[in-house]
Amino acid sequence: MHELQIAQNIIIIVNEELVRRQVRKKVREIALVIGQMRAIIPETLRFSFNIQKKRHTQLEESELLIRENDIVVKCNDCQHQFKIQEPQFYCQKCHSANIEILSGNELYVDSIELAD
Ligand SMILES: [Zn+2]
Repeated sequence: MHELQIAQNIIIIVNEELVRRQVRKKVREIALVIGQMRAIIPETLRFSFNIQKKRHTQLEESELLIRENDIVVKCNDCQHQFKIQEPQFYCQKCHSANIEILSGNELYVDSIELAD
């Protein structure tokens, strides 16, 4: 149900942006960036979005383009940078727990493309 709320939020954000810019055209594509730490299943999110978009005239034909960002962390002791698949917060090189997350926590609408 996590994805259902996110889909609702995306629609709110996009609608607010359309109102703010006084856009009346339909939306073709919404590019979304999701960090893997968010534990969002892209197919579930797209499914929820596709159901909900039908209630919004400007969004009813839009597609969600999802870009997933890897989780990248950096060790503050030895400066080693590496990707991780799942939360495992210690350095792979020196085993320090003094690490910093560089990316992977994102969740935002990157761009909105309008139909002609
Ligand atoms: Zn280290």
